[in-house]
Amino acid sequence: MTGNILNIQHYAVHDGPGIRTLVFFKGCPLRCAWCCNPESQQFRSQLRYIPYRCKACLECAPFCPYGSVTSENGIIKRSFTHCYSCETKPCIDHCMADAVSLSGREYTVEELTRKVAADIDFYRNSGGGVTFSGGEPFAQAEFLIAMLQSCKALGIHTAIETCGWAGRNDLRRAMPFTDLFLFDLKLIDPEEHYEYTGKPVQPILDNLEFLTREGANIVIRFPLVPGITNTQSNLSAIAAVMQSNKLKHIVLEPYHTLGSDKYGEHGLSNSLAALEPMSPAVAEEARLFFAGLGLDCEVI
Ligand code: SF4
Ligand code: SF4
Repeated sequence: MTGNILNIQHYAVHDGPGIRTLVFFKGCPLRCAWCCNPESQQFRSQLRYIPYRCKACLECAPFCPYGSVTSENGIIKRSFTHCYSCETKPCIDHCMADAVSLSGREYTVEELTRKVAADIDFYRNSGGGVTFSGGEPFAQAEFLIAMLQSCKALGIHTAIETCGWAGRNDLRRAMPFTDLFLFDLKLIDPEEHYEYTGKPVQPILDNLEFLTREGANIVIRFPLVPGITNTQSNLSAIAAVMQSNKLKHIVLEPYHTLGSDKYGEHGLSNSLAALEPMSPAVAEEARLFFAGLGLDCEVI
């Protein structure tokens, strides 16, 4: 069995306790407008083109079966229309400048477990472990559960960051091997949730209730997006969902633009390109609101 993995990040400290390895799964059923990892949304591996590395030498152009690389006045023009379905992506092998690469690659359970276990001493000394994120880990449920089992067999603390869009049976199967769920809530109003993520909110809320009822260890993660999720009505609705599920811990993730270049580099459009990052002062106001309700709230 293999899983498509976008990235493995070592020595992370914000996604669960202690020092952690983050494993980003490729593919997500949601399309959040503010996504800072847009290259994690599609399920297959994707071409990434980094313009500032490109020498405009056109060495790659003759190898593209679709004529997707051309030049105009010495400036490279690249169309991504055929890249997603182009199986072999020969342009990558013919670029000496490292301007083109593949986002996402297949790993076996054994191979990925070896990568995670390489940091086992750091986990033991810091109370850390592995966090499966994405994308949406449950969108590759069989691979996720196999990884959870294999990490648990080595005594590694396991966390899953999930958007909550998961099959009930998959949640049930994952639970015995999952020490912590980092459960994302974004918008509670059904119409707003559908507008900004492309999916209904109710199945997500139902899954949160299910995990709570079954006694899972849950921390809520909430992206603070100016004017979209950071409205008083949404903050109140998030708090109400937490209170009805008797959840105490929420982590706020202020909107930033660090991932914005990745939209263009993968031929994707960014509907929030003009949106400014969330100011620390406004994030602090949100933190005070949740803390004032007796919730354990931190900003990362
Ligand atoms: S990925 Fe395929 S279609 Fe896209 S530029 Fe490279 S060779 Fe052409
Ligand atoms: S081979 Fe690399 S450096 Fe040359 S034009 Fe193609 S992407 Fe740019």
